[in-house]
Amino acid sequence: MADLTKVKENLEKKGFIVNVFDTGAEATAHLASEISDKTVGFGGSMTLKEIGLYEELSKNNEVVWHWKLVDYNNLFNEKTKDPSNIRAARDAAMHTDIYISSANALAETGEIVNIDGAGNRVASTLWGHSKVIFVISANKLEPNYEKAVWRARNIAAPKRAASLNKKTPCAIKVDKCYDCNSDERICRGMVTIWKPMQFQEFEVVLIQEDHGM
Ligand code: SF4
Repeated sequence: MADLTKVKENLEKKGFIVNVFDTGAEATAHLASEISDKTVGFGGSMTLKEIGLYEELSKNNEVVWHWKLVDYNNLFNEKTKDPSNIRAARDAAMHTDIYISSANALAETGEIVNIDGAGNRVASTLWGHSKVIFVISANKLEPNYEKAVWRARNIAAPKRAASLNKKTPCAIKVDKCYDCNSDERICRGMVTIWKPMQFQEFEVVLIQEDHGM
């Protein structure tokens, strides 16, 4: 079991609210008890999907998640999605009371790293909400910022590209990032949150159980 004591301390020193749970189910129960009668936007995230957060929060909130508009098994299949609906959902999620995202990597020193293709997820973690919540499992933890960036680029992104059947070099061997120039490149921008952005509350929900990529 990962020791999350140091990362919790470092995040708290930077001004994040931090809560630690053993399981995704406990994290979901915590967030469901904390969030009520709000508008909530979700970023694309296997972690959020795996812990069933959308279903729980939808009981007492208005939750917008573009992933709910498409077939999970064909997430980026142009034939199965309506691009105008997807865009509208991404836009709507940028203007909710609360925005929830996972992360591609977390440094024990307290930096949160995310790579994005469309940009809605990373943009929404920077501005537009009264509160931003990151739900991050211990498998995303790295000892320092450099290694967190390395993880986001060389572990999380290739796994995601492979899961989407992208025609990118990383999706074949899933061994590293090849810094490709493919039209199907999913890594278009990277954002690091060093400290909670001004004028917004930031919470980090840490989970011991493995989730996401
Ligand atoms: S930049 Fe290209 S090769 Fe690197 S992880 Fe992203 S999609 Fe894969």
